[in-house]
Order: sequence, then structure tokens, then C-alpha cells
Amino acid sequence: MTKNEKIHELEYCRKCLNQVYHLNLKRNDVMVYEYLGTCKHCNKTSKIVHRVKRNKLWKIMFSRKLKGD
Ligand SMILES: [Zn+2]
Repeated sequence: MTKNEKIHELEYCRKCLNQVYHLNLKRNDVMVYEYLGTCKHCNKTSKIVHRVKRNKLWKIMFSRKLKGD
């Protein structure tokens, strides 16, 4: 599983991704679903991140915590 696939699976909002995985993803770094969803971390209705843009993948590359299994 790649890290992007992991992000897809997590269904977290950008805020939680940044917080939990110590990332610094800006709004323009990620793709979110068009419709609002429920973040599986904070349980708030929010825009759920489904992937990090290809040219921003380096931002998650060095996250040791965000491991693909
Ligand atoms: Zn959240």
C-alpha cells in the first residue's frame, strides 16, 4: 500500500492529517472529495482528503508515521 492509498483509506480531514502525521499540507496540496464527509479522526463534517497531489507527494514521503502496510 502506498502512502497515498493509506491517506485515501484514512478518510481524514486535512487538519487531522497534519496533526496526526505531523505534516504541513496546504489546501492546494491535496485533493478532497466534492461532497462533505465525516472525518474518521475528529468526527466533524468536513472535506475529506482522498489524495495528495502527485507533485506534493514529497511532503508525505518522509513521514515515518504514515506507513503503508
Ligand atoms: Zn478531522
